Amino acid sequence: MTNARSISFTNIFPSHNVDESRICGECNACCLLLEIKTDILQKPADILCKHSSKQDGCKIYKKRPAVCKTWYCAWREISELPEECRPDKLGIVFTLEADPKHPDPSCRLYVLGRAITDEETYKKPLAKSAFNMFIRQLPLWLVSHGQRVEYGSLAKGINPYFL
Ligand code: SF4
Ligand code: SF4
Repeated sequence: MTNARSISFTNIFPSHNVDESRICGECNACCLLLEIKTDILQKPADILCKHSSKQDGCKIYKKRPAVCKTWYCAWREISELPEECRPDKLGIVFTLEADPKHPDPSCRLYVLGRAITDEETYKKPLAKSAFNMFIRQLPLWLVSHGQRVEYGSLAKGINPYFL
């Protein structure tokens, strides 16, 4: 199992999948959670980017580096997720991820959820609704205590660990 906190900004989905009607606004969840390692910008996971304002999101939004312009959380890509599921409002960042070499083909494309600060957030009714929506389409994994743990899928049901 990999340490999910060390996952770099990657996105298998090109930006044309983005819901252009949605904007990040005050959200800076990915600017806190994720590790960035590029020539122009570097930051470790769980440290807020130097360009982010705690209240207003990215201070250089229009001029943000390409790595940020081409990375989107699932809320920016999936219109069916309600407004209240914007990561800073829900407390969870969902991403569409790929593991193309996984020996089980059913595990090669999945959704990963990361609690921004508190894993109790996974118990919120709205979080559970989002989980149930995801597992009808793709396997869902959640970061728990620094590890990726499979929450469930249509085929496998829900992992009792999360019930
Ligand atoms: S987590 Fe999503 S909504 Fe929030 S800043 Fe990042 S891309 Fe935008
Ligand atoms: S440059 Fe802006 S969008 Fe990119 S990580 Fe920093 S605050 Fe976030």
